[in-house]
Amino acid sequence: MASEKRILIVEDEEHIRKFVKINLEREGFLVEEAASGEEGLSIAENKKIDVVVLDIMLPGIDGFEVCKILRKNYPTIGIIMLTAKSQDIDKIMGLEYGTDDYMVKPFNPIELVLRVKSLLRRIYYNKDEDENTIIEGPFKMDKYSRKFYKDGKEIELTPTEYSIIKLFIENPGKAFSRDEILNMVWGYDFMGDSKIVDVNVRRLRSKIEEDASNPQYIETVWGVGYRWRDKN
Ligand code: CA
Repeated sequence: MASEKRILIVEDEEHIRKFVKINLEREGFLVEEAASGEEGLSIAENKKIDVVVLDIMLPGIDGFEVCKILRKNYPTIGIIMLTAKSQDIDKIMGLEYGTDDYMVKPFNPIELVLRVKSLLRRIYYNKDEDENTIIEGPFKMDKYSRKFYKDGKEIELTPTEYSIIKLFIENPGKAFSRDEILNMVWGYDFMGDSKIVDVNVRRLRSKIEEDASNPQYIETVWGVGYRWRDKN
């Protein structure tokens, strides 16, 4: 799988870029490099990019702005943000950016490669699965095209949001803990930050619920996590 996948690194610090590139290429990925957000966006426009590793501190437009533009133009692209500051994490986790994952500098490149692979599984894992369509109340999930509809209208989901909703909708009524969701969606033992689950659920609710503050589909299980409503 790795061989045809193209990863774009947007980072102005050349040594970090090279270091990430070497580690990704060793795993068989195609790697594109950009030293600014503008350059990154122009590469994304001209080449099919699967995952973007995006630094926040960039000359010109910053990583947050780049993230917003990428999400708007390519809703299903994978985005992993790099940050040097712990106070950026709350912003990364903000509803408007739709980040799939993030890493705090300095990071272990092997861990970054694991996260890229895990994100690619979220993007591609069900391509050879059954082609069933799931109908659930007003929702329709087309597993082959990975599209999701409410009342016949498509709702654009990030790869991570799609994986979460697939987990829920295939297991109605089952309560999942945040750690279970981390393991099943992110696909490895994520080191502890279950806030990424909460923020993705919040974003999903704002996309699929009539009233996100009074959810009818994704219910909170107090002290545990979340579950999709039980039809009965
Ligand atoms: Ca930088």
